[in-house]
Amino acid sequence: NLSTREIQDLDSAHFLHPFTDYKDLATRGARVITKADGIYVWDSEGSKMLDAMSGLWCVNVGYGRKELADAAYQQMMTLPFYNSFFQTTNVPAVKLAARLSALAPKVGDRSFDHVFYSSSGSESNDSNVRMVRRYWDLLGQPQRKVIISRQNAYHGSTMAGASLGGMSGMHAQGDLPIPNITHIEQPYFFENGLPGETSDEFGIRAARWLEEKILAVGPDKVAAFIAEPIQGAGGVIIPPATYWPEIQRIVDKYGILLISDEVICAFGRLGHWFAYEKFGYKPDLVTFAKAVTSGYIPLGGVMVGNRVAQVLIDKGGEFNHGYTYSGHPVACAVALANIDIMEQELLLDKVRGEVGAYFAKRYAELNEHPLVGLAETSGLVAGMVLVKNKATKERFSSEDAVGMLCRAHCFNNGLIMRAVGDRMIIAPPLTMTLSDIDELMRLIRQALDFTLRDLKQ
Ligand code: PLP
Repeated sequence: NLSTREIQDLDSAHFLHPFTDYKDLATRGARVITKADGIYVWDSEGSKMLDAMSGLWCVNVGYGRKELADAAYQQMMTLPFYNSFFQTTNVPAVKLAARLSALAPKVGDRSFDHVFYSSSGSESNDSNVRMVRRYWDLLGQPQRKVIISRQNAYHGSTMAGASLGGMSGMHAQGDLPIPNITHIEQPYFFENGLPGETSDEFGIRAARWLEEKILAVGPDKVAAFIAEPIQGAGGVIIPPATYWPEIQRIVDKYGILLISDEVICAFGRLGHWFAYEKFGYKPDLVTFAKAVTSGYIPLGGVMVGNRVAQVLIDKGGEFNHGYTYSGHPVACAVALANIDIMEQELLLDKVRGEVGAYFAKRYAELNEHPLVGLAETSGLVAGMVLVKNKATKERFSSEDAVGMLCRAHCFNNGLIMRAVGDRMIIAPPLTMTLSDIDELMRLIRQALDFTLRDLKQ
């Protein structure tokens, strides 16, 4: 029976949070989230908030799912843990690997018959780096070491994950990137489109930054290109329609591996099990985590396409890499139950159909707001850029901290929406009904109005 203040004091005394300014936390105190149900969470003061971020892009089936708790309980009572090293396996891990392989659509000559498990997106991307390097070594091209990524990408917080990511603040604190990782600019049309350039023209130009980089590095030294289908933590940057087809042409031309980091975009967020299907490209490796279990328990992994898997299997010998929790039986059992829910409730169909269409329509209406430069959606993820002047698209400076102001108005009025610089982003649970969407839009509009009022004062 601790009071909110007592929990906050213990929190700042003992808990070093991720991505947090510790002095600021100690002064203000963390918001203590105590329970959740459906699309709502409650804090220790009893405030109810619509969680439009699905936790951290993961609670796709919503909170309070007894089926997931039951799956975890039953598996814990049967086999709570066993490792998958040294030629042992367990039933949920096997069933899930087969199920994910069946769900991952075959594209062209790529099929995804194999899964490598981890417990998070960051670990999965470390595994990607290991697998990519191993692949080229086994093919007798060990000089192919360079992985190209994008500015403002987020690929996790481990040394390799943060290096693959393009967040300058993370690089500065960790003496990163590690060697042989280099970046190109992101396909952000609102920011980087030229006067008179269409978004389709920009998409081709932005994809060609990859070709320029490959040529600058030397094509025989490039191992892979990694990208999120839609850049999530960077601010929900949705690429123009021409971007991915041109990227595919370029990776094919130089024979380099393509890694699709779908930690946010997979498991229904864009209306598909895997997002490469929506954009029509052919990755060799697909990173997943988060919504594979709807965040109820940690699980991540890599869908390994046949091009890479076959080399690892046929030529590899022992792969000296893996985690204690690779293929954790409880996590895999929860993932199976989570996929059951998504199938039974037709959540992907809803995102591709009525719910996604209504979300897109209502969100597009926010473009009328004087603060909004551009509001865009894809599936059930959305981003908007807040601008000082709608006509000239003049941006706020970082000192204006407009995103944090808007975020505070969201929080104080019952909405969890995330700020990334001058962008506001959401990724609500896939279980949203049409009336939930109306409520969400009312709360967003209200936060925008309060922000505008403060800026005018
Ligand atoms: N990759 C992407 C695209 C992500 O969005 C994230 C987390 O947000 C990660 C990797 C890292 O995942 P985790 O936090 O599970 O390590």
